[in-house]
Amino acid sequence: MTTDMPTIAYHTLGCKVNQYETEKIRQSLESMGFTTVPFSARADAYIINTCSVTAVADAKSRAAVRKALRSNPEAFVVVAGCYAELGPAKISSIEGVDLIVAHKDKNDIPERLAAHFGISEKSASESELHPRPRSRTRAVVKVQDGCDNFCSYCVIPYARVGMTSRQVGDVIDELKSLADFGYKEIVLAGIRLGSYEDKGLNLPELIIRAADIDGIERIRLSSIEPWEVNDHLLDVMNHPKVCKHLHIPLQSGDSRVLTCMNRPYDADEYKQIITRVRERIEDIGITTDVIVGFPGESDDEFANTCSLIDAVGFSRLHVFRYSRRPGTKAANMPDQIDSDTRKARAEKLTEIGRSTMHKFAVAHVGKFMDVLVETGAPIVSSYDNRYDGEQARLVGFTGNYISVTFTGDIFLKGNIVKVKIVDTDSDGCVVGSLG
Ligand code: SF4
Repeated sequence: MTTDMPTIAYHTLGCKVNQYETEKIRQSLESMGFTTVPFSARADAYIINTCSVTAVADAKSRAAVRKALRSNPEAFVVVAGCYAELGPAKISSIEGVDLIVAHKDKNDIPERLAAHFGISEKSASESELHPRPRSRTRAVVKVQDGCDNFCSYCVIPYARVGMTSRQVGDVIDELKSLADFGYKEIVLAGIRLGSYEDKGLNLPELIIRAADIDGIERIRLSSIEPWEVNDHLLDVMNHPKVCKHLHIPLQSGDSRVLTCMNRPYDADEYKQIITRVRERIEDIGITTDVIVGFPGESDDEFANTCSLIDAVGFSRLHVFRYSRRPGTKAANMPDQIDSDTRKARAEKLTEIGRSTMHKFAVAHVGKFMDVLVETGAPIVSSYDNRYDGEQARLVGFTGNYISVTFTGDIFLKGNIVKVKIVDTDSDGCVVGSLG
C-alpha cells in the first residue's frame, strides 16, 4: 500500500449491526488501498454510520458529521445508517455533506469513494470480505437484519425494512476466517437475531455449526427477544462453547404498558421465561433493556417495572428514557411524560439496576471463572514512573458477562484464563486474581 493513498476515518453510532457494517466497509476500502486513520485525525474522507433509535442518537449523529467537517472542511463526507435512512433532509442541511446513503445502497460506498478519488482497483466481492475488528479477542458477526414487529416506540422497522438472514455457508466461512485470525469469541448479532433462518436452518442450529469450528472458544448472542427464547435455544445454550449470557429486552414490567408498546408478552410471561432460562442454564447472566416514561406510564405502572427488575435480579440493566420518534405510533399517543419525570424514573431504575448487578457479582466471590482478557494497560511504578516488567492491569469478561479486573502478564491479552473472583465494589466491578 502506498502512503499517499487517500485516508478515511470512520465513526459508528448505535448497535452491533452498525459496528459490523462499518467494519465491512472499512475492510473493503482497505482492500482497495485506502488508509484508515482515527476519527479525530484530518482525513480525506469520513464515513459516519449513524443511529436514530432516540432523539439523542440523532443529535450525536449530527454532531459526528459536524466534527468531521471541522477536522477537514474539504473532506468527502459520507453519512449512512438509520438516521441517513430516516432523516436525510436534516443531514443534507449540514453544509459539506457529500453523500447520504440509504441502507439498501451501503454496499456501494467503497465504489462511490473509489470513483470520487479516481481509484480503479477493484475491491473484493462482498462474500470474500470477512470484517476483522482491531482487537483480536471478540468479533461481531451480523447474521440477520431487519424487524417486522413494529413496537410502537421503535423506528427500526421503518429504517431496516424486511427481515433477512445471511446464508449459513457465508456465515461459517466468515467465522472460520476469524478463527484463523485468532479471535476467540464471536458475537452473533442481528436486529432480531432469534428470527435467523436460512433454508430451514435456525439460530440454535447455526450456533451448533459455529461451535464446531476449531479455534472459536466462545459464542455469544447479542440480544434475543423474549418471544424468541425457546427450548431448542436453551438446550444449545448448555454447549460448553456458548456463553451463559442472554440479553432479553424487557422494556416495561407493566402489562398494560407492554400492550401499548406492541410487545407480544405480558409481565408474568416475561418472568416465566426468565424462570425457565434459569432452571435450564446454571449461573446464567441475564441482562436487559427498559424504557421509562413511555406515554401514559403512571407512577404505579413504573413501580411495577421497578418491582419486576428487582425481583428478576438482572446482572446488567440498560435504562432508556422514552424518546418520541416521529412516524411511530407512540409519538401520537396522548399523555406524553414530561422530561423531569422521565429523568427521575431513569435515575431510580438505574439505581435498582446497580444494586441487582452488584448482587449478581457478589454471588461469584470465591469462584474460579474463565475470563477472556480484552484489554491490558502496563502497570507503571508510582515511585519512579518506570514500567514494572510485563505486569499489566488486565480487564476481561467471564462467559456470563461479568467484567473482571486483575493483574497479570500483558501477554495474556487475547487469551482465556482462569481467574479467582476476590472482591467487588458497590458498582459491581469485580476484582480477581489469576487462579
Ligand atoms: Fe424495534 Fe421492537 Fe423490532 Fe426490537 S423488536 S427492533 S424494539 S420493533
